[in-house]
Amino acid sequence: MRLLLVEDEKRMAQALAELLRQENYQVDTCGDGLLALEAAEGTLYDIIILDVMLPGMNGFEIAKNLRNQEIRTPILMLTAKSELDDTVMGLDSGADDYLTKPFMTKELLARLRALTRRSIHSSDGSLSFGDISLDVKTASLVCHATTQNIRLSEKEYRILEYFIANQGHILTREQLAVKIWGFDCEAEYNNVEVYLSFTRRKLGFVGAKTTIKAIRGIGYELRYENV
Ligand code: CA
Repeated sequence: MRLLLVEDEKRMAQALAELLRQENYQVDTCGDGLLALEAAEGTLYDIIILDVMLPGMNGFEIAKNLRNQEIRTPILMLTAKSELDDTVMGLDSGADDYLTKPFMTKELLARLRALTRRSIHSSDGSLSFGDISLDVKTASLVCHATTQNIRLSEKEYRILEYFIANQGHILTREQLAVKIWGFDCEAEYNNVEVYLSFTRRKLGFVGAKTTIKAIRGIGYELRYENV
């Protein structure tokens, strides 16, 4: 789970980053608004923790900017208690949730878990893309066009879930390894390839026109080509 922590108070940022790393988040920190925007545009994060008052560009503007670019990474905004109106503004600007400072770390972690769970599902709670959807209860892959379905292994399910959550983005082998296996090393890269081929076979089995396309030298993307 890759996380961008945007906070300009150095001590706070350090303490939070340490805590989040202990919780197995892969944390990048940033203390400047403009650099944070750049980082969020250039890297596929699973979640962004965004302070409001920042040098360069404030948190509201960053959130707005990202949403205008259709970047839907979940954002947890940190607002000061004295700025109650901030909360409304924060949510208006495209943040998914907010937390007022000072907060309990327990609460922060709970909010993060909730947000990353939510991010996987579309607004209606289903996991769909192109002509396919995932049935959470039976862990199966369904093709709407052919009405065929097939059971998925846990890894195959998580691979498709990850692709659907990041539709429109190319995912690297490294990202898949970290996300699905929790590691980023050579041995896991082979696993990624093997499981991608299993998953492709199942997409073929149900007759889906949704495919996992290899983008040479970069990674993989979920594509739907209705031809
Ligand atoms: Ca600040």
